[in-house]
Amino acid sequence: MQTVIHWFRRDLRISDNAALHEAESRGQRLVPVFIWDDAVIDAPDQGAARLALGLKALESLRDNLAVLGHTLIVRHGAPHEVLPRLAREVDAAAVFANREYEPAWVACDRKVATALYSAGIHFELIKDRVIWESRELLNQQGQPYTVFTPYAKAWRSRPISAPFPRLGHATVAAPERIHSLPLPKDSRDLGHPCSHGLPPFGEHAAHETLKRFLRGPVYSYDRSRDFPAEEMGTSHLSPHLVWGTVGIRTVFSKLSTAREEAPPGGDRGCSVWETELIWREFYTQILSNFPHVAAGSFRPEYDALAWEGTDAQFQTWRDGRTGFPIVDAAMRCLNATGRMHNRLRMIVAMFLTKDLLISWQRGERYFMQRLLDGDLAANNGGWQWSAGCGTDAAPYFRIFNPTTQGMKFDPEGRFVREWILELKELPGAEIHRPWDDPILAMRSGYPRPVVDHGTQRNRCLAMFQAVKRPGAKSEDTVEE
Ligand SMILES: Cc1cc2nc3c(=O)[nH]c(=O)nc-3n(C[C@H](O)[C@H](O)[C@H](O)COP(=O)(O)OP(=O)(O)OC[C@H]3O[C@@H](n4cnc5c(N)ncnc54)[C@H](O)[C@@H]3O)c2cc1C
Repeated sequence: MQTVIHWFRRDLRISDNAALHEAESRGQRLVPVFIWDDAVIDAPDQGAARLALGLKALESLRDNLAVLGHTLIVRHGAPHEVLPRLAREVDAAAVFANREYEPAWVACDRKVATALYSAGIHFELIKDRVIWESRELLNQQGQPYTVFTPYAKAWRSRPISAPFPRLGHATVAAPERIHSLPLPKDSRDLGHPCSHGLPPFGEHAAHETLKRFLRGPVYSYDRSRDFPAEEMGTSHLSPHLVWGTVGIRTVFSKLSTAREEAPPGGDRGCSVWETELIWREFYTQILSNFPHVAAGSFRPEYDALAWEGTDAQFQTWRDGRTGFPIVDAAMRCLNATGRMHNRLRMIVAMFLTKDLLISWQRGERYFMQRLLDGDLAANNGGWQWSAGCGTDAAPYFRIFNPTTQGMKFDPEGRFVREWILELKELPGAEIHRPWDDPILAMRSGYPRPVVDHGTQRNRCLAMFQAVKRPGAKSEDTVEE
């Protein structure tokens, strides 16, 4: 009877799980394990809210496995030490895991592979997190794509594989006597107390979230996705994709069904949502093929930018006290809930880099520490896009005007009014320009703008021009 181990990481589910399915089909006895690794828990970009969600997902995974007669084994330590030890204990012939693409995980997996190889234990990493990984889609020169539109075209030209079957009942469950640690009660026990409430989380919650979105909101996604006050304007699926509480093949398969059932005009919303999911794959392959982005600009010339913003300015941004209502509302929402709408992420990222002239890497780190859905690939891609130093970047001369953005995407001020209570008396879109009513602005205690947008815009252009890449013309400046 062959025993195999499935090592759970960011794939906390029993359905549509590629490596789990492979492990089940290759062994007669399955030992599912999760390892608390201090290198991950104490990483500088670790976030309490994200960790707390991961804990919830683990509890739900443990319960789902138990219903099928499997016992989730929990261990603590460096995976390259824990896995060979466990494999010897349970007499496992092989270890299976789903592939991760972040440089730290890649390095960790290399160590695990070496240790297991020395111990004579088979180790297999399997594609699961994305539909197309690393070098599976290449351009005509045989190189990875660095521009989104042709990447998305190539992505769409291939068929998507069906979801993997759900894990079955254990024929022989792992024996009870295998030592396992209890799961921590909450993220505080891991040294990361989370200061706010969390949404329901786990495999069931992921499926409910997907079902609710595909039942209706997806059909108007193309029109509603840019408006942060619309609660169902987007899917809220991202934390689930980060922790792998839903499989990506399942998402596309259910989207395909929703598309077949679309009301007139609803197909457009489905296509636009599909495009967003392709952005996720795009950034994952960028990180995998160009790992230097984790530590610097995709275009290295931009590492020489002379960022001049101060720590005090960074703190006003972080705490939602810049005096620009849409920026402050977004940051207060992030700090209080761990969530931020995509449009707001672009606005605050542009503001930090192009109004406050502070390095995108400081913002990137803060987002990772706060977001429920912090994901190195998507976050890094979003920050480099906003700063103008990434692959398929908004050129550096595209600069959002935070006030105009607020008026356009929160036209009645509903979102801002929810978070900037000091200004709630200002009617409609006037909330985006408190300085037009100086008496109320002064009485409210809401801060005056920390910078002048026009002045900073010119400084930003000068800063970029000093290091600009060939071909980018300053006279093409765009204000949005
Ligand atoms: C500065 C910045 C930082 C970001 N940081 C992250 C992050 O840490 N984690 C993260 O998952 N997304 C990040 N994004 C992308 C995007 O903002 C979120 O994926 C989205 O807001 C999540 O909400 P949703 O699930 O309702 O998305 P939906 O609009 O419903 O989109 C569906 C899914 O597509 C993916 N997706 C959507 N937009 C993008 C995008 N631009 N790039 C990559 N994937 C995308 C997500 O997995 C998302 O769940 C960032 C964007 C910016 C501009």
